[in-house]
Amino acid sequence: MPVPFLIAPEMRVRLKKKHPCGGDMWQVTRTGADIGMLCLTCGRRVFLEREEFERRVKEILETPANKETPDAIETKPSL
Ligand SMILES: [Zn+2]
Repeated sequence: MPVPFLIAPEMRVRLKKKHPCGGDMWQVTRTGADIGMLCLTCGRRVFLEREEFERRVKEILETPANKETPDAIETKPSL
């Protein structure tokens, strides 16, 4: 993506690289230092570093309406 964008839980994105299952659409499930994503094709969950995530996003498909969710201020380590 050429410009910075807001990463929000529940937003849907298309990534440049396809998942091994063939899907390229993902839903963000968690934000923080790492971004949690759910593959909308096979349902697998993966984590990407924020920087890596931003590099891989090709298109934002859907952004949830501005709403405050606990996920948006997630601070717990992902252990
Ligand atoms: Zn998949």
